[in-house]
Amino acid sequence: MTFGANILSKGATGPEVAELQLRLAGFRGTLWDGEFGPGTELQVITFQRDYLKMENPSGIVDEATYQGLDRFAQEFPIDFAKLQCSNCQCQGFGQNRFQNEFLSGKAQIEAFHKREYPGIHKAVLHTFRAIRFYTRGADLGEALVTSGYRCWIKNEEKGRTTTNHLGKALDFDFPMNAGDDKRDDCQRCDAVRGLLVEKSNCQIGWGANNLKALEPSNIAPTWIHLDVRCYEPKYLADKYFVKTAEELDRKEI
Ligand SMILES: [Zn+2]
Ligand SMILES: [Zn+2]
Repeated sequence: MTFGANILSKGATGPEVAELQLRLAGFRGTLWDGEFGPGTELQVITFQRDYLKMENPSGIVDEATYQGLDRFAQEFPIDFAKLQCSNCQCQGFGQNRFQNEFLSGKAQIEAFHKREYPGIHKAVLHTFRAIRFYTRGADLGEALVTSGYRCWIKNEEKGRTTTNHLGKALDFDFPMNAGDDKRDDCQRCDAVRGLLVEKSNCQIGWGANNLKALEPSNIAPTWIHLDVRCYEPKYLADKYFVKTAEELDRKEI
């Protein structure tokens, strides 16, 4: 099946819809469940209004909207070299170890799941694209990836026990402007978190299930951490994790 082959609108179902929901993860964002309901329509309308600058967004994914999605992907490319586990013998994205293994003494929930997922989750990457678009528009500067994949080899080296960066998370930051101090940096990160909540339907903290999460400012004062650890296992299936730009934007689904 080819993403882009069919016009999609409310009531459509299937893998093309799930792919659409992922590509628009940063434009409001809904579950990638393959059901084109009101949440998906809002994603499409938001993309059409904000990125395509349509005066009367249709909520229908037609040829022009597909072309807009391609343009959006090209304008905000993802550099996978920056996402890889750095200088690591895992070759970049872990070794697919520890499925259904959890940190000892902890609850068997995703936050403690030791799995080395096979790549970075598409929803994280597409949301990162959208926030680059929105921060550019808000004059907040160009977001840069500061941390992507960190496998257990790296975690053990650094004495870390967090499972977040095993494919479910991304950290990014913004270059300081001349004359900025740490307080300016913190304020900017707060402003970007605000945008991620407003534009991309993220939550601060991990209170709700099936919602993209941001570390609060007391944990991440001078950077942004975005993750998908609150999702049910079916939304963290292997097919949603990618290791290359080609895989991320592949039309064959
Ligand atoms: Zn590694
Ligand atoms: Zn992080």
